[in-house]
Amino acid sequence: MRAIYTTLALLSLAFTSCQAEPSDKKPMETSKETPEQPSDKVVKTDEEWKKVLTPEQYRVARQAGTERPNGAVYKQFKQQGAGTYYCVGCNAKLFSSKEKFDARCGWPSFYDPANAKNVKTKQDLSGGMIRTEVICAKCDAHLGHVFEGEGFNTPTDKRYCINGIVLKFVPKGEEKKAETKEESKKE
Ligand SMILES: [Zn+2]
Repeated sequence: MRAIYTTLALLSLAFTSCQAEPSDKKPMETSKETPEQPSDKVVKTDEEWKKVLTPEQYRVARQAGTERPNGAVYKQFKQQGAGTYYCVGCNAKLFSSKEKFDARCGWPSFYDPANAKNVKTKQDLSGGMIRTEVICAKCDAHLGHVFEGEGFNTPTDKRYCINGIVLKFVPKGEEKKAETKEESKKE
């Protein structure tokens, strides 16, 4: 009888500690390692992209989707300190906290790319609007849109309105060069 009580007590303890486990995973990927930069275009089939991206990353990056404004990813973005933002699909360096500003629009905003050659734009006529789409030049991932001349007090008066879910953040001061031989650790 005593054994049963002990087992029950242990079980309820295990149950409580399971419940206490934090369940809110950070939506924007964060890494401590500066990823190796792609030298060429990164080309994958839709099936291959589905294997390396989460469903939400796939929807935004490969299907030109838009993440929910003011969501968990935006809250995470606002709390981040200095660092660099890379493409979640191909690791190309895209933006940095130096060009980050608070546009209060509900999406991560930058006034310029950190590495202009990795960011390209094209006219987007979808949704009955004339907009300029922002794309990763290395893997053609949809990143967001850029708007000009809105009157922001920034050096460019451009707003790169970017979906945070397609970015990977490496905090400044914590970054290490990824070893080519070493498998990069999954956070
Ligand atoms: Zn990319």
